[in-house]
Amino acid sequence: MSDDASPATTTTAPLDWSYAESKESTAIVSIPDEQGLWIGGREVAALSGNGFASVNPANEETLGTVAEAGEADVDAAVSAARTAYEDGWRDLPGSERSKYLFRLARMLQERAREFAVLETLDGGKPIREARDFDLPMAAAHFFYYAGWADKLDYAFPGATPRPVGVAGQVIPWNFPLLMLAWKVAPALAAGNTVVLKPAETTSLTALEFARMSAEAGLPDGVLNVITGAGATGAALVGHEGVDKVAFTGSTAVGKLIQRAVAGSDKRLTLELGGKAAHVVFDDAPLDQAIEGVVNGIFFNQGHVCCAGSRLLVQESIHDVFVDKLKDRLDLLRVGDPLDKNTDIGAINSPEQLERIKELVADGEATGGERWQPACDLPERGYWFPPTLFLGVSQSHRIAQEEIFGPVLSIMTFRTEDEAIEKANNTPYGLSAGVWTNKGSRILWMADRLEAGVVWANTYNQFDPASPFGGYKESGFGREGGRHGLLPYVEGVA
Ligand code: NAP
Ligand code: MG
Repeated sequence: MSDDASPATTTTAPLDWSYAESKESTAIVSIPDEQGLWIGGREVAALSGNGFASVNPANEETLGTVAEAGEADVDAAVSAARTAYEDGWRDLPGSERSKYLFRLARMLQERAREFAVLETLDGGKPIREARDFDLPMAAAHFFYYAGWADKLDYAFPGATPRPVGVAGQVIPWNFPLLMLAWKVAPALAAGNTVVLKPAETTSLTALEFARMSAEAGLPDGVLNVITGAGATGAALVGHEGVDKVAFTGSTAVGKLIQRAVAGSDKRLTLELGGKAAHVVFDDAPLDQAIEGVVNGIFFNQGHVCCAGSRLLVQESIHDVFVDKLKDRLDLLRVGDPLDKNTDIGAINSPEQLERIKELVADGEATGGERWQPACDLPERGYWFPPTLFLGVSQSHRIAQEEIFGPVLSIMTFRTEDEAIEKANNTPYGLSAGVWTNKGSRILWMADRLEAGVVWANTYNQFDPASPFGGYKESGFGREGGRHGLLPYVEGVA
């Protein structure tokens, strides 16, 4: 350094650390203006002649038009699946079936960014979640069931498992591609063929997956995707050529479907709604519990069947816990789902937004105390801010009904017995969470909580090897794990 070097004197304005947008590019996806149905290994125009728009809920723009399958289209899809089943898929050695499933899993990984962006555009979920949760989990399910395809005899020792036939599968809009994976992977692994109906508001990733299955060389007709609304789903589950019905969606529609298949020899599994209790004891690590509770209810805008939508907090820590929760909610970022900073994206549809608003209005009208952080919502699109309800009692609708939105109802308890009584006071039984320092208390609670899944000191943990499903009005049957194969095999007691 020379002697005359003087210290830097440049003065710069203080850096603004508050926010830097980080938008994912959409250049990687191309969405056809018009898409047909996927039947018999190719895209076909709907015989019904009808179609509908798929909309981006974050800006209300139409992404493209998809075909609406009528009864004749459903019939064509079911017979394509039947032909593919009888002409080879059911008799293919498991080791051959597994090759296709491994290939689909790898292709999902290779094209993960593209699928994640498409899922976010069509459904409104934050890109961070589509990228870090939906896509890795969907691929993991295909990998997992690919591994079982040639080992079914070991999955069910002493039995000779056989496929059931044609599976008619109907899925919801909250995790479109992941729900496809939960249904399609075990069905194909066990030697069944599939007709899948995605939800009306989120058809695009299922159609892209169908095209990808052709690239993977999946034989024609093994996987068929028919888009449409509730009537298409009803025609599929009611079709006499369907041997097995698998449904994920609301309890109300689940009941309709159970009635529709009653008296037939169709097999049925129902994965329905939930109203999970998230129980926090006074000895819990509170800051970790806050993260768990926030993830439990605000993940995917609360459009989650196992969302921890009822917080039961021990009375002695209620005030401090609620203060911490409010501080944390102040930091949540609501807005453009394509921004990697976004925590809460768009509500999936105007209908769902109306339902959330209606239940929130009812909560206030019946004496609940609503709290929301200050946050600016975009002008276009469908949005709802993260919301807490204090002073909630057991009889409130917001404590009983599934809101399926970013709304948490907070109640208190004093003893374990009271926590169990309140947690189980719901028609649902899908999931629950417990936060406490005591291992014995976790086991005691898990024994008594009426829920298919109980998370302890964590929430929303998933693994393809772990079965997931409900009790009571949350449905029956399990997806994931060895249990997830059972609905798709005959000959197993
Ligand atoms: P939904 O209204 O019950 O719809 C689910 C699917 O069924 C959609 O594809 C829907 O088509 C179709 N459908 C509607 N009416 C039908 C009928 N009569 N017959 C056959 N199919 C019909 O539920 P959603 O609002 O999409 O999804 C939210 C619900 O799913 C929540 O209750 C949530 O808890 C539940 N869910 C459960 C799980 C689980 O594993 N237990 C997982 C995820 C979600 P359209 O959408 O085109 O109308
Ligand atoms: Mg959409």
